[in-house]
Amino acid sequence: MAKFEILARCSTTRARVSRLTLAHGATMLPTFMPVATQGAIKGLTSQQVESLGITLILNNTYHLNLRPGTAVLVEAGGAHKFQGFRKRALSFESPFTGEPTMLTPEESISIQHAIGADIIMQLDDVVPSLTPDRARVEEAMERSVRWLDRCIAHHNQSGKQDTQNLFAIVQGGLDLELRDRCVTQMIERKDQVAGFAVGGLSGGEEKDVFWRVIDRCTQKLPEDRPRYSMGIGFAEDLLVCVALGIDMADCVFPTRTARFGIALTHHGPLNLRLAKYAKDFGPIDPKCPCPTCTEGTSRAMLNHIITKETTAAQAVTIHNITFQAQLMGGARDAIMNGTFPSYLRSFFANYFGDVGYPEWCINALRSVGIDLLEGSDIKVVPGSGAKWE
Ligand SMILES: [Zn+2]
Repeated sequence: MAKFEILARCSTTRARVSRLTLAHGATMLPTFMPVATQGAIKGLTSQQVESLGITLILNNTYHLNLRPGTAVLVEAGGAHKFQGFRKRALSFESPFTGEPTMLTPEESISIQHAIGADIIMQLDDVVPSLTPDRARVEEAMERSVRWLDRCIAHHNQSGKQDTQNLFAIVQGGLDLELRDRCVTQMIERKDQVAGFAVGGLSGGEEKDVFWRVIDRCTQKLPEDRPRYSMGIGFAEDLLVCVALGIDMADCVFPTRTARFGIALTHHGPLNLRLAKYAKDFGPIDPKCPCPTCTEGTSRAMLNHIITKETTAAQAVTIHNITFQAQLMGGARDAIMNGTFPSYLRSFFANYFGDVGYPEWCINALRSVGIDLLEGSDIKVVPGSGAKWE
């Protein structure tokens, strides 16, 4: 099983820095994992992804099973070789595509064995987070626990336990009592699983409900296993989750939004399609170390070609992946140095100072001992506070 070592803890929040050692090497957590839907991050080669310092990517089991299919992956020697990616990979079942999967738990594990990912996910029963039918949410939660047992049994007889690590996925919708019951049952299987994910969120639920579900799960999940929040990618969501004790997150957002011309920065997202950038000859972010920002690609250039040339989408994708990596790398450094609370304060002041702090972030961070409003004259705005120009 993977080796998981906690290297530092924040003395105020529940954030921690850890090292997760997998078959293809070690990854420092907390980390953000870009999503490679078809086995590739759209627009980038595996070498480019590696050169940006990305050590863990996420493959989609459903898509890799359709194309190229498990036979090709087995022949290629697994997804790592197929993709030419030498770092760590994780695979999972697509929860929100709306596509019927019709997989059994055993088939799901077999496919992931063929893919060869370092981290494999149990098959779970996902219902949209806004499902009003509590009985359906409860049924899905209980089924996910039963399927975890089948995944564990199938994985343990495969002989792959030394190289591939099974994660459980906590379900239970937005109902804290169902989440409690799910976590309790899954912890009973702790010796058989390498980590725990929190699934079934990011389905359009209120952010003030979202963070309370994460909070409830991370409070109960065991300290000595990595915790992974699925489908989380906005900068403020990532940092709040880290403060609540999350170690890993994934989302298509930074790469998908890049293709629409949105560049992520510490002052919020920039919509490069706007006319105001047509004569802005600076880089996306002068402090960003990515090739796009350091090799002279200007906002004006990107504005000119963003919807016309794939190289523009590629340039913004590289920048956005670097932004996420810098955000999480900065969080790790701050936790190690004992300065995570001030890292959060300065991130939120830079990012939301002009429009106001989202109320849910204030509430979530207060729950772990940080008051963003203390000594600040920045206003508070209700709702998600999503910041778009
Ligand atoms: Zn950049």
